[in-house]
Amino acid sequence: MKDIINKIIEDKSYSTEDIVQVLQCKGDDRTYLFSKSQQIKEKYVGKKVYFRGLIEYSNVCSKNCYYCGIRRENKNVERYTLTNDEVIEAALFAYQHRYGSIVLQSGEISSKSFIQNITYLLNEIKKVSTGELGITLSLGEQTEETYKEWYLAGAHRYLLRIETSTQSLYEKIHPNDDLHSYHRRREALNSLKKVGYQVGTGVMIGLPYQTLEHLANDLLFMKEMDIDMCGMGPYIEHKDTPMSQLNHQLLPIDERFNLSLKMIALLRIMMKDINIASTTALQAIDNTGREKAITIGANIIMPNITPRKYRDKYFLYDNKPCADEDAEDCIKCLEMRIKFAGGEIGYGEWGDSKHFSNKKLHD
Ligand code: SAM
Ligand code: SF4
Repeated sequence: MKDIINKIIEDKSYSTEDIVQVLQCKGDDRTYLFSKSQQIKEKYVGKKVYFRGLIEYSNVCSKNCYYCGIRRENKNVERYTLTNDEVIEAALFAYQHRYGSIVLQSGEISSKSFIQNITYLLNEIKKVSTGELGITLSLGEQTEETYKEWYLAGAHRYLLRIETSTQSLYEKIHPNDDLHSYHRRREALNSLKKVGYQVGTGVMIGLPYQTLEHLANDLLFMKEMDIDMCGMGPYIEHKDTPMSQLNHQLLPIDERFNLSLKMIALLRIMMKDINIASTTALQAIDNTGREKAITIGANIIMPNITPRKYRDKYFLYDNKPCADEDAEDCIKCLEMRIKFAGGEIGYGEWGDSKHFSNKKLHD
């Protein structure tokens, strides 16, 4: 096993089967993987953990992904969209508390008014933070033109998870129509790259029907796509979704968690200088889940700065953590947690993907 791990680290040719073997590692082998991913993280991206204040802008969504709690057809969700003042206030909070960056996330909406309003917000956020806040968007699939408009307005990173890189699995977890097309999602990732964003993608881990081969291929997909950032985490069931009917097929939750840590460690040794987020879903399973991910490879954390009154309306999955916590409490708690994980917070820094700048240097 150690030979396989070393082969991956040295970037000698390795196969899906090699990665599948590492995903199965236990005991000493698992400890070896995690110690290597920790060393590589420190060598290539350092000990700093960067904040992205997460603003959950709207839970209105035009799509119907089978796994997601805010899907269009979930009638049990009270829909909201933050006012522009609420968004600016949250961004100011991030700026004043030296978060460095924010992420603006939302259900997928492509109306003209939505697009224009995001452009307005980007300009305003840049203005009130005198250009100092970095902005990541996670607003789903849009046209290249829209991506360009938002890029020019000041967004410079974009997160769009491929969810799974295997088309047949993608088609099992989404309705079969043009709005949920695997090719469209891949095209959207290409458009983001073309426009000039630092591009992040990711997958859900432990989906029904998902095999270790699928997950190994997901990692190879990210390497081949030459992504700059990744946000991946366990799939967690939501009771009001069609996919909850398949709960009996799922891996136990602690195995999904374990597998997620191995995926992060593997990606760190495969793509040494990218940014990897420690996602909230990890904390929904294990109270110290995000710290564990930081210790073994992740370097980005997304504290939730959505106004508290909306937090319980953006439930993608059951048992979302910190839904009732104020952003102020969240900082204190995170500081302690990150220190515990051997990291330090990169206050006031954008913490851009080193992979992105290294690529530009070699262009
Ligand atoms: N609507 C945009 C999109 O889909 O790209 C951005 C927001 S969407 C809520 C962000 C991510 O939430 C999705 O990419 C998906 O991976 C994740 N997600 C949705 N439902 C989930 C679940 N039940 N468990 C874990 N992650 C989930
Ligand atoms: Fe909408 Fe994104 Fe949820 Fe799919 S994952 S239903 S696009 S919010």
